[in-house]
Amino acid sequence: MSDFSYPSTRLFIDGQWLPSADGESIRVVNPATGEAIGTVAHATGEDLERALAAADRGFKAWRNVSAFDRYKVLRKAADLLRERAEGIARLMTLEQGKPVAEAMQEIRASADTIDWFAEEGRRTYGRLIPPRAAGVRQQVVREPVGPVAAFTPWNFPVLQLVRKVSAALACGCSVIAKAPEETPASPAELIRAFHDAGVPDGVLNLVFGDPAEISSHLIRHPVIRKISFTGSTVVGKQLAGLAGEHMKRVSMELGGHAPVIVFDDADIEGAARLLAASKFRNAGQVCVSPTRFLVQEGAFDRFCQAFVEAAGAVRLGDGLDASTTMGPLANTRRVTAVEAGVRDLTERGATLLAGGGRPNRIGNFFEPTVIAHAPRSSVFMNDEPFGPVAMVNAFDRFDDAVEEANRLPYGLASYVFTGSGRTADACARELNVGMMSINHLGLAMPEVPFGGVGDSGHGSEGGSEAMESYLNTKFVTHLV
Ligand code: NAD
Repeated sequence: MSDFSYPSTRLFIDGQWLPSADGESIRVVNPATGEAIGTVAHATGEDLERALAAADRGFKAWRNVSAFDRYKVLRKAADLLRERAEGIARLMTLEQGKPVAEAMQEIRASADTIDWFAEEGRRTYGRLIPPRAAGVRQQVVREPVGPVAAFTPWNFPVLQLVRKVSAALACGCSVIAKAPEETPASPAELIRAFHDAGVPDGVLNLVFGDPAEISSHLIRHPVIRKISFTGSTVVGKQLAGLAGEHMKRVSMELGGHAPVIVFDDADIEGAARLLAASKFRNAGQVCVSPTRFLVQEGAFDRFCQAFVEAAGAVRLGDGLDASTTMGPLANTRRVTAVEAGVRDLTERGATLLAGGGRPNRIGNFFEPTVIAHAPRSSVFMNDEPFGPVAMVNAFDRFDDAVEEANRLPYGLASYVFTGSGRTADACARELNVGMMSINHLGLAMPEVPFGGVGDSGHGSEGGSEAMESYLNTKFVTHLV
């Protein structure tokens, strides 16, 4: 048992923390121990109707709060989150498994995200367009899109939610968030920080329950004007289809399968160390995690050796232990999927260089795994492993690397390591992706765009582009 208490999480509707209307709840499990640590309320249709009515009222009030006043409330929420970071990080580790240091980083990054969107909210400018006729004034006005339904996953319980909520609130929208049932307590603390900072009742609501029931209820409902989802491509396509039937705006931040191209003129050992740290962060359960490593033949052996060494230095353990650098997978579904994917790779002739199995301990642990010569036909060379698995293959010519990088329908993150500016530019031109990081890891700050193309979705979760998703454009022409 842990020596501090994990709460039972309630719904937050119209400014109040409530059990579900029928008192039903779902068990929350610590993935490092398999122990049940708490519960989360399971919303009924009645609860959702109340949240919808609250969001409708909340929107009508919040849209009329000045951008400057919204900014002040949001900045305060960011400060509260920073003050409470340590406690929230421990809750996150208990429910999600990541090391406390990573959880702390996530909370700090979340506070920075609120600050950035708060400031950006004051810059949602319209414009005046020169008219063709005297006496006509042509205005372009930006208005909040309306109440938003936001669906967020368990890999970054606070960061995934804060990106949607802070952009939406900064634009003047209200929100009903369905946060992950497996990791409910840390996102609930984010909502509490917004409420304590002065976000009015009804503007921000939080529900949990059956994801499919909640999404189909909310997306169909006329109050909801915009859907934002982060999760798997399969579910994203279902939700986008439903939103299309009801002509709702959508942002989709879906799966990835990030290619990493390492040319033989790069700093090979440096790249391997950097990429291994990135690969095993959050046990690989990251949509921008480097996954398909394509290394030029002349550097292949050196890269593999350095990467395997770095994998060997990873300390697997309970995230509450300060020496742990990689925690368990967040749920048993991932363990089953990762185990099957690695077995499929080795059965198809891939070479296991490190890890490959579950260590002999309770909890959802899986070893940091490095695999060479992964066949294109294997499951994990096509489907996102979403776990601590790196697949390293050799390439000869530039065109071969680009062809492999662009082979899959995904197009989220990509990484390139090269000493040549010309090669870097050519990669930036040729790869079908939403983000590329060259010779360093530089994605996902609040001020830069974050999103994909193709099956990785559309819309941005960062940068001024993220504000666009929560704003309508109104054109007003006025003969004065
Ligand atoms: P999943 O597809 O069942 O769920 C993914 C997320 O979507 C979860 O948070 C879940 O609560 C939510 N969800 C599922 N069905 C929904 C519905 N009908 N309506 C609304 N929300 C719904 O899979 P999973 O086992 O939780 O995760 C597996 C895969 O999901 C991973 O392999 C990965 O590809 C993807 N994923 C991506 C991200 C990301 O950051 N893009 C995060 C988590 C999971």
